[in-house]
Amino acid sequence: MRDPELMKKVMKKAVSLGKKEIENGRVADYIPELAKARKDALGLCIVEADGAVHKVGDTNIPFSLQSISKVVSLCMALELHGLDTVFSHVGMEPSGEAFNSIVELDLQSNKPFNPFINSGAIAVESLIIDYRSFDDLLDFTRMLFLDPEITLNRQVYNSEMATCDRNRAIAYLLKSKNVITTNVDTSIELYTKMCSLNVTAESLANFGLVLALGGKDPRNGNRLLKAETVQTVKTIMLTCGMYDGSGQFAVEVGIPTKSGVGGGLLSVVDREMGIGVYGPSLDAKGNCIAGKAILRYLADKLNLHLFHE
Ligand code: GLU
Repeated sequence: MRDPELMKKVMKKAVSLGKKEIENGRVADYIPELAKARKDALGLCIVEADGAVHKVGDTNIPFSLQSISKVVSLCMALELHGLDTVFSHVGMEPSGEAFNSIVELDLQSNKPFNPFINSGAIAVESLIIDYRSFDDLLDFTRMLFLDPEITLNRQVYNSEMATCDRNRAIAYLLKSKNVITTNVDTSIELYTKMCSLNVTAESLANFGLVLALGGKDPRNGNRLLKAETVQTVKTIMLTCGMYDGSGQFAVEVGIPTKSGVGGGLLSVVDREMGIGVYGPSLDAKGNCIAGKAILRYLADKLNLHLFHE
């Protein structure tokens, strides 16, 4: 366990640096319900392997998981089918394009570049749909986040379903290329429901810790995910977790992280800690702008870069 006083000091400073970035970003508004978020909200939670929990700011405000749900769905697909089958439907390369890009799927490839862009996540969802219901996935999410309170945010779900024509277009394109064979409407509904789960910075940190511990429950050591699933997911978080800003983030911060346009960041410090950030002001690529500054500072002060000296 790290010195609690030092943790408090470093985390407070990190959040104050993050706050300065908030005005440089924007709250997502392409899903109308997300535009209602408080732009200046900011919370940071770190959970250490021995159970120590450190919190600064708005760590208990519920917000929707959005793209971070792609990590959960990838875990489920890998648990069900294993690596070879999953990656015969979706690639494992950074796309260098925006999260909702359609062009490279149409022109360059017959399968989505990776499971963390929308096309890839919709393909992953279609691998789950015949085997698990939304309720099963909700239970799975509650188990991995150590949070029985996680529920579907109906307002966000309805708002996104009313405005997700682009995701539908992606799903039809996937179907035309035989990447998915499931019903487009059902696939989009499941994908959007997973994006609309309400979590907190604290529950994100819990999931980060489960991944940091190789898929084991920090409370009792019980295995929740296969080691191979966790190793794969963490690697793709490092290479593709921050959309088309993943390379720069990996160099500058070096902590496997997945962002969502709801303002969440899920981060994994291997074997040591899970980190959850909530801040709905986003940079141009859709990543929590304050969270990036926070994680960079934490990586520097606490030596959290994967390849630190
Ligand atoms: N539900 C969002 C969408 O499909 C998720 C995007 C994100 O968080 O990057 O547009």
